[in-house]
Amino acid sequence: MNSGKDNIVKLPVNISHLDIEIVRGCFLKCRWCPLDKEQPYQFIGLDLFEKIINALHSVNGGYHKIDLFRGGEPFLHPDIKALLSILEAKGFVGKSIIGFFTNGMAVKHEQIKAIMESSLNIEVVFSVDGVGTGESFEYMRTGAKWEIVRKNISLLSEAGKGSVYGARKKIAVSTIIPHQDAVPFSVPKREEIYETFKKEFRPLGVDEFYFRDIHRYNGRVVIEGMPEREIRSGPCCFVKRGGISILVDGRVSTCCGDLNNSLIIGDLSSETLEEIFYGQSLLSIKEKMLKGERSALEICGACDLR
Ligand code: SF4
Ligand code: SF4
Repeated sequence: MNSGKDNIVKLPVNISHLDIEIVRGCFLKCRWCPLDKEQPYQFIGLDLFEKIINALHSVNGGYHKIDLFRGGEPFLHPDIKALLSILEAKGFVGKSIIGFFTNGMAVKHEQIKAIMESSLNIEVVFSVDGVGTGESFEYMRTGAKWEIVRKNISLLSEAGKGSVYGARKKIAVSTIIPHQDAVPFSVPKREEIYETFKKEFRPLGVDEFYFRDIHRYNGRVVIEGMPEREIRSGPCCFVKRGGISILVDGRVSTCCGDLNNSLIIGDLSSETLEEIFYGQSLLSIKEKMLKGERSALEICGACDLR
């Protein structure tokens, strides 16, 4: 094994944030989504999922957050309950926050039940891009319906009320704020948008709000009208927080920003997670970023994620 563990002194030496792609594919056609919709849908198998979760024990990670998505719509998976049961059985109760990031259109009753009955700490983040209005949301998320997403948020929050495990569950909404030059509606100041979101979603039981500026991923998304965003030279957010991203077929990428898998750094069918996380591919990316040479990296050099 080529171990670079000792060289990475300024970055987390263990995995602290992990994405597992449980579904590849999505039925929406959001503006500016880079996910390749031509590929067939894929769902993670329970055997591979269990193998991944077992592998986590071999890397002494903090695993503060394990996100069960990586682009695509996680609630299309046919057996969310079984995935959560594997995490429970493998000792992740109270150890990690299990995250779902959903477009909010496909949440089913049995999935809500599985989440609410699980003893895991779970955060469900509904993606409601825009400025807190149905008009802006439906413009950015082509095919999604504001009222359906609001209803599904309410259903989840209602199901949590009075439940024994309700306190372990968190509901959040996340928005990507568009650039004014790229949309036909008005984009207010961030503080005003925040107030609109609070008014709209607090009564539905939302605990947390996440705001991000729109970005072009690794240069693959064209957003007409929007000025270029600065591409930083140093480590990006994924590298800084010790992240890694496992695909639905067991291959491993650096981050969930690499939605079409251009940055494959390993494959769990032939390597261990430890070999991949401390291996040469990820090590050289980290070294370049630490030296302020992100621009020398083929994919990361065009990435405007911070
Ligand atoms: S919900 Fe997510 S994956 Fe689906 S089209 Fe929209 S941005 Fe892409
Ligand atoms: S800079 Fe590279 S590793 Fe970081 S988010 Fe962008 S594509 Fe991913």
